[in-house]
Amino acid sequence: MSKIKDASHLASELKRIDSKGYKAYKDIAGTYGVDEFTLFVDHVQGDPFASPSKVRLRLDAGRAQFPSDLSDNPDRRIALEDYILRAFDSVLNRVAKGNRGSGKSGMLAVDRPGQQVLERTAVVVTSEYVEVRLVAGLPARGRKVLGMQAQKMLLEELPAAGRRAMYHSALDGREVRKFVLSVEDAAKLRRQLSSMGAVAFVADGSILPRESGVSEKPMLRDEAVPFRAPSSLKREATLANGGRVSGMAIPEGVNLIVGGGYHGKSTLLEALDRGIYNHIPGDGRELVVTRPSAIKIRAEDGRQVTGVDIRPFIRDLPNRTDTGNFTTPSASGSTSQAANIMEALEMGADTLLVDEDTSATNFMMRDMRMQLLVAADKEPITPFIDRVRQLHRQLGVSTVLVVGGSGDYFDVADTVIMMDHYRPKNVTAEAAEIAERFPTGRAEESPGGMPRRNRRFPDPDSIDARHRGRVKVKTRGMSTIQFGTETIDLSSVEQLVDFSQTRAIADALVSVRSRFPDMCIYDALEHLERELDQKGLDVLSPFSGHPGDYARPRCMEIAAALNRLRSLRLLKTEYMRTGGG
Ligand code: ADP
Ligand code: MG
Repeated sequence: MSKIKDASHLASELKRIDSKGYKAYKDIAGTYGVDEFTLFVDHVQGDPFASPSKVRLRLDAGRAQFPSDLSDNPDRRIALEDYILRAFDSVLNRVAKGNRGSGKSGMLAVDRPGQQVLERTAVVVTSEYVEVRLVAGLPARGRKVLGMQAQKMLLEELPAAGRRAMYHSALDGREVRKFVLSVEDAAKLRRQLSSMGAVAFVADGSILPRESGVSEKPMLRDEAVPFRAPSSLKREATLANGGRVSGMAIPEGVNLIVGGGYHGKSTLLEALDRGIYNHIPGDGRELVVTRPSAIKIRAEDGRQVTGVDIRPFIRDLPNRTDTGNFTTPSASGSTSQAANIMEALEMGADTLLVDEDTSATNFMMRDMRMQLLVAADKEPITPFIDRVRQLHRQLGVSTVLVVGGSGDYFDVADTVIMMDHYRPKNVTAEAAEIAERFPTGRAEESPGGMPRRNRRFPDPDSIDARHRGRVKVKTRGMSTIQFGTETIDLSSVEQLVDFSQTRAIADALVSVRSRFPDMCIYDALEHLERELDQKGLDVLSPFSGHPGDYARPRCMEIAAALNRLRSLRLLKTEYMRTGGG
């Protein structure tokens, strides 16, 4: 670590460079003791309009005095870091003056989280210290240094915020504990799912609907119908911190969610796709948990597909396209949905979440009449209905499927849940009885080529973020990555929830290429996952300064980005035996 200088040194430097050209700020990079804090000025921006500077504020654990049990396992530590981040963010809004001149002058900001509690780099809690990482817009008038203003920001506002958010005694101790234990309860409940034989659990009393289609905040309590499990699917679970909870366990196998339009089917499925994450207290989905490797599947026409074996679903395309090694710059609805499933299997998905609202109809279903008119040998598609059982019986992959329109699926369902005015009912027996009384008449189509988990080996040279010789990676919002000369579109990757995950994915793609060459996609991302577990997300950063704005993505979402990179090429594919893992 560089030598720690006194705050008075920083103050006199700022005085010295006052009114000079903006570049003079470069001189303040370094480490300072500011009262009881350590201030790291890691990166100084080149001008007032450029990306803001990066600073860290650190406080010794001995002063911060957070009870050690609040960070004594990874679930708790991540939750505590998240709590401190939220506290610091709201305090900053009160103690920081904000705009102080041109460009980003005066800005002080942390990476603000949403409804999910994710592993992040914005706050770090170790046994030695608590550290908050921020961006700071060093102030200027025009392009001239405003030294006194900088002094106020760095030497007054920052420590003031730290004093109100980085000491345990400054926070509501009961609320901190409640937050941490609530997150831990969810994380541990999720890990119990497989021993419960369930793919998801939705606690009684959960609030599933959101405020609006563009907000992850909960619908107001007096408007929302709280979730209540039907008695035949009700299970009780013991939470890590002692509480008992009852709710609906969605079993392994083929699950249908049926019901009339607007009765809450998609809302339930969306809650399940978010159930891979932990949520803040008050979100309403605190105890809605789904298997960690559940993947939302949808049609996504127009997407790039590279060397995916989609034969289990699609064969013999009219132009003799090889669907065992299917590559296209613009997939159709059905081929994109097939590719999304095969890529999900490749990444080890054990649960598929499918909503008819976002599926290709011809991929999901072919009824008797259509089978009679268009013979199977003229139809390249083996519909999902004829593979969904094999997926479970042979690969152990369960499905939760929203269907309002096709009762043909009753034949292949293990469990049928009906949403009726936002209340779930178990209608498995009725559906089975109807299926028996009214046969569909359709013939099962299942030519060879069962679903399997293949391994694709990317050509490292095709994952190249260089633009005119320099690595250039940028993100825009949650769903666009500029990767060298390529643009990756993640707008249909529905389980991304945070801009900061997208930033981490972008840098992960750069590092996967150099770090793990000669591996299949699955192995490379498994290795990365283990490295992130051991060393934290910081390792993704290509800069020496801190990455204060990453949130952890799953390896599935990193793979999703790689799969949508248009330049991707493969060296080879290993085709696994059916049922092979
Ligand atoms: P479906 O998929 O069955 O057509 P949606 O899940 O899209 O229905 O829900 C329709 C509307 O009902 C949405 O606006 C949603 O916010 C609202 N909604 C869903 N669940 C609830 C609930 N438990 N309480 C109140 N409103 C709900
Ligand atoms: Mg719907």
